[in-house]
Amino acid sequence: MSVPYERQALRHADPRTQSERNVADAGSDAQSAPPVEETREPRRTFARTTAWIFDLDNTLYPAGCNLFAEVDMRMGAYIAKHLGVPFAHARHLQKSYYRQFGTTLSGLMHVHKVEPQSFLDYVHDIDLSPVPEAPELAAAIAALPGRKLIYTNGSRRHAERVAEKLGVLHLFEDICDIAACGFVPKPEPDAFRRMVERHGVASEQAAMFEDMPHNLEAPHALGMTTVLVHSEYPDHPAQMQMRNWASLPQHIHYATDCLTAFLREIQPEPAPTK
Ligand SMILES: [Mg+2]
Repeated sequence: MSVPYERQALRHADPRTQSERNVADAGSDAQSAPPVEETREPRRTFARTTAWIFDLDNTLYPAGCNLFAEVDMRMGAYIAKHLGVPFAHARHLQKSYYRQFGTTLSGLMHVHKVEPQSFLDYVHDIDLSPVPEAPELAAAIAALPGRKLIYTNGSRRHAERVAEKLGVLHLFEDICDIAACGFVPKPEPDAFRRMVERHGVASEQAAMFEDMPHNLEAPHALGMTTVLVHSEYPDHPAQMQMRNWASLPQHIHYATDCLTAFLREIQPEPAPTK
């Protein structure tokens, strides 16, 4: 499936104000163009970024690896086994809990008092052979100035395995997983507040990289610079909505379909002197 917007236009959100765009679009006669109400916040750069926070799944590795397909099936298998129900019913419960509670695990914890670690251990016991070694990504992350963190709705063990396979684990100061956030998942604002507090992150000096558009709303509200790492083949409902975008939503400063290329292009500008 192709995306309807221009990929290049998404890579960096147009930093111009609407007035500036109107002036440019209208050519030289536009000097007399009427003023347009400004709604866009000032251009965000990475000049002050001292903390680089990355989601794990489908962000640090390409969505094309399709790891979630196996995790998804194992969630169904876990529910079937744990609750003693047919697999088809387990899949129905899985999707219902996901919609109602934000994550399947939250539903299982609330409704069935499932012990979260056993669930996480089971669903993340997957074959990582589709995940490639990524030396170019590792070099791009290593070149970023400041702290680097992984922040995932999955487990620490899963993040460690995947990051190790990519060859980037050693570059990260720490991993914030779902357990570290008291099993409060993204996109809940409280989850991000817990992560920020736990790791002493100065939100205004942090950048958050994510493949789920709605997971960037809370970090944007906290003052972070937000980057959407989107797939050419979105399959989540929240990502499917991207097809209707004419431009980036307010809560997303940048978007890219290639994290490595994006990080290479970042040239943190020096902080302005007063
Ligand atoms: Mg993800």
